Amino acid sequence: MAADCIFCRILSGELESDVLYRDDDCFVIRDIAPGAPVHLLIIPNEHFTRLTELTPTFYPVLGSMFNAAQEMAGREGVRESGYRLIVNQGDDAGQQVPHLHMHLMAGRTLTAMG
Ligand code: 5GP
Ligand code: ZN
Repeated sequence: MAADCIFCRILSGELESDVLYRDDDCFVIRDIAPGAPVHLLIIPNEHFTRLTELTPTFYPVLGSMFNAAQEMAGREGVRESGYRLIVNQGDDAGQQVPHLHMHLMAGRTLTAMG
């Protein structure tokens, strides 16, 4: 838990946000500024900033995040039409929130990456 972190404050209930999914390792909310008709954020409960901080302890958490992604894709009705999972790392990728998270974007044809 980082006191000044938006995602930690949402997880603790200090900040209001509809949590669509949660398990022991991660939770899912809608992005506040959606870039696609479906735009979810899959967020580990544990606060860490970058994949460079990852240790083997967290490997199961990554598995839970991908499981949450495919579960939510089903609930949002995009499992068959397709979706994109994105993890922004650092400034060049435009990472805004320094708590690792994965975007799930879907609901329209997504343009080329980069
Ligand atoms: P990043 O650019 O760090 O990969 O993505 C951060 C995402 O978090 C952005 O798409 C931004 O719209 C979203 N975001 C920032 N603050 C909040 C918030 O308070 N609530 C929600 N639901 N999303 C947020
Ligand atoms: Zn955090």
